[in-house]
Amino acid sequence: MSSYKIALLDGDGIGPEIMAEAVKILNLLAERNKVSFELTHAPFGASAYFETGHPFPDSTKAICDEADAILKGPIGLSHQESQKIPVDMQPERGALLPLRRRYNTYANFRPVFLPKGLAHFSPLKPEIIGEGIDIMIIRELVGGLYFGEKETGINEDGRRYVKETLEYDEDQIKRIMKVAFQTAQKRKKVLHNIHKSNVLKSSVLWNEVCLEVGQDFPEVEVINILVDAAATYLCLNPGMFDVMVMENMFGDILSDQGGGILGSLGLMPSACIGPDKAYYEPSHGSAPDIAGQNVANPYSMIGSVAMMLEMSFNMDAEAKNLWQAMQSVFAKGYSTPDLSKPGGDVKLVSTSDFGDMVAAQLSSMPISS
Ligand code: NAD
Repeated sequence: MSSYKIALLDGDGIGPEIMAEAVKILNLLAERNKVSFELTHAPFGASAYFETGHPFPDSTKAICDEADAILKGPIGLSHQESQKIPVDMQPERGALLPLRRRYNTYANFRPVFLPKGLAHFSPLKPEIIGEGIDIMIIRELVGGLYFGEKETGINEDGRRYVKETLEYDEDQIKRIMKVAFQTAQKRKKVLHNIHKSNVLKSSVLWNEVCLEVGQDFPEVEVINILVDAAATYLCLNPGMFDVMVMENMFGDILSDQGGGILGSLGLMPSACIGPDKAYYEPSHGSAPDIAGQNVANPYSMIGSVAMMLEMSFNMDAEAKNLWQAMQSVFAKGYSTPDLSKPGGDVKLVSTSDFGDMVAAQLSSMPISS
C-alpha cells in the first residue's frame, strides 16, 4: 500500500471552506484505493501572520519539507485589511513567493477547461466557444519581475522612486520551454509562445531560447504571439489555443483571463512543479467578498487534488474519475452561485453540497486501474 504525506495549507478567506471539500475527497480516495494519505494542516498566509507573527512560520516550513506534496488554499486579505500587515509580511511577499522559491516550483500548469455542454457558464457566445475550451497555460513561476531585485528610496530630486528588475537567464527559460514542448508533444503538437519582444529585451531572449529548444521537438509547431494580442484572442477565439507558454507576470494575468472566459475563477485549479517537490493550489485568490458564506466554488481546490493525483502520485485513473465526477455534477444542472446567471436554470448548491455531490458521484464510479 502506498502512503503519502500531504501538507495542507488552508490559507485565508474561502481557503478553509474549499480545503474542507478537498479533504473530504482525499479521505474518500484513501478509502477507495490502496493508498493512505497522512494529512497535516499548517498555518500559512495572513491567518498565520496573525496567529504566529509570520505568514510562513518555520513550523509550516518543516511540515512542507517533510511532505510528499503540498495542497495550498488561496491566501490574502482585502486591500483594506492587508494594510494591517507590514508590507514585507503581507501574504504574497511573505509566504507565497518564499514557498515558490523554497521548492523552486518553476513550472506552473493552469488548465482552462470547459466542455461544450457547459458553454452556458461562459460569458462568451456559444458560437465563440464552439467545441469547448481546452487550453493548458504553462507559466514560468519563479523568475521575472516578481522575483527580481526591488529597491525603493528617494532619488536625487527628492522624489520617492521604485525600481524592480525583470531578470531571466537562458537556463531558466530552457527548463520551462522543455516542459511546454513536452506538454504540447503529448497534446495537439501546437505551442503558442507568448511574448512581448517588440518592447521587452527579456522577450527577445525568451524567443531565442524557444527556437533553440524547439529544435528537439520537430513535430511541435510553434506560433509566436504578442501577449496583448493573446489577451484579445482568448476572448475572440479561445479554440485556437491548446498549449500556451509564458513568463511569470504574463501568466498571472492571462490565466485569470482564462478563468474569466470560463465564467468563474472557481474553475481554475493549478499545479506548481519543482525538481523535487510540487504544490497544488487554486489559481485564484482568497475571495474575501464571499468568504465564510459556504458559497465558494470548490472545483478549483478539488481539481488541484486531481492534478496532485496525476502529477505526484501516479494515480491517473482516479484523477480521471475525479474530473468526470465534478463535470457530471455540473452536467446534472448543479453549481455554486458564481456560475449562475440571471434567468439561467442552474440549481444552486453550497460549497459543501458540491463537495458531497462530487464525493457521491466518485463513490458510484468503478475504480479503474
Ligand atoms: P480573487 O481571485 O480572490 O477574487 C476575484 C473574484 O473571483 C471575486 O469576485 C471572487 O469572489 C471570485 N472567486 C474567486 N475564487 C472563487 C471561487 N472559488 N468560487 C467563487 N468565486 C470565486 O481576487 P482578489 O479579490 O483580487 O484577491 C483577494 C486576495 O487574494 C488578495 O489579497 C490577493 O492578493 C490574493 N490572491 C492570492 C492568490 C494565491 O493565493 N495564489 C492569487 C491571487 C490573489
